[in-house]
Amino acid sequence: MLIYKNIDSLQEKLSLVKEENKSIGFVPTMGALHRGHLALAAQAIKENDVVVISIFVNPTQFDKATDLEKYPRTFEGDISLLESLDKTIIVFAPEASQLYGNSIQATSYDFSGIENEMEGKHRQGHFDGVGTVLNLFFRIIMPSKAYFGEKDFQQLQIVKKLVEIEQLPIDIIGCSIVREKSGLAMSSRNKRLSIQEKEEATLIYKTLLLAKENFNSLSLSELNNLVKNEFNKTSLLELEYFEIADINTLKTAVIKKENTTYRAFIACFISGVRLIDNMALN
Ligand code: AMP
Repeated sequence: MLIYKNIDSLQEKLSLVKEENKSIGFVPTMGALHRGHLALAAQAIKENDVVVISIFVNPTQFDKATDLEKYPRTFEGDISLLESLDKTIIVFAPEASQLYGNSIQATSYDFSGIENEMEGKHRQGHFDGVGTVLNLFFRIIMPSKAYFGEKDFQQLQIVKKLVEIEQLPIDIIGCSIVREKSGLAMSSRNKRLSIQEKEEATLIYKTLLLAKENFNSLSLSELNNLVKNEFNKTSLLELEYFEIADINTLKTAVIKKENTTYRAFIACFISGVRLIDNMALN
């Protein structure tokens, strides 16, 4: 497996790939890989000649130093997992200084307001950090397609805006959420949970499902109350937000409108670990 830590050597390899007119698919990750990441990688392998996967815990998208510090890092295991999927995958795992030089700072973006909803409200500067690092990666790799999970649905919409703003000719492909058998969405952060905490965290999936099942029969405020009541029954999970939003604007929906597609979004804490999930409602 080819592992690059240096931009120049990665680009040297990729220029040979491009000379042969081969297509490049790109899957950005922060490592601590699981089946969700592997599903993205598998789709990229199917649709491209060469696949680059980045493993980089991006400091500029974390608003809390402790969250960044505690983010799981399992590099050796990640490489073994990727090797078991496909040995031809190219891994790009730079140090922060390779990408940012000596100024680890985010550019400020205007993503038409999407950046101010949900995750943007609760994680100061998060999407500036995401936009900045992806813009750097995109320009280094110049893939024809890049793959993102619907698990981070708001991020997926932000990245679609980013390539428009930066005028990058990259197709952004959204991939379905991969879940544990219990329904819990796969996440690197799940590695910080005990078996019991993981079991408790299935409430996230269960309440999203409850909202979906009742979407046609209840009003949006009734759906809000339904979900919030479920979270009030447990002291282990602390709900940060439950939102039903139009998938294009990601603004909180107040009444249901025709010809509009809605998703429900949850962010909550369990034993200090922040988890997010979402589900299509109609
Ligand atoms: P992360 O390493 O958490 O930054 O995630 C890297 C990519 O994997 C992002 O595009 C995520 O949306 C995607 N991803 C993470 N978890 C899942 C999942 N359970 N199902 C599908 N995609 C996921």
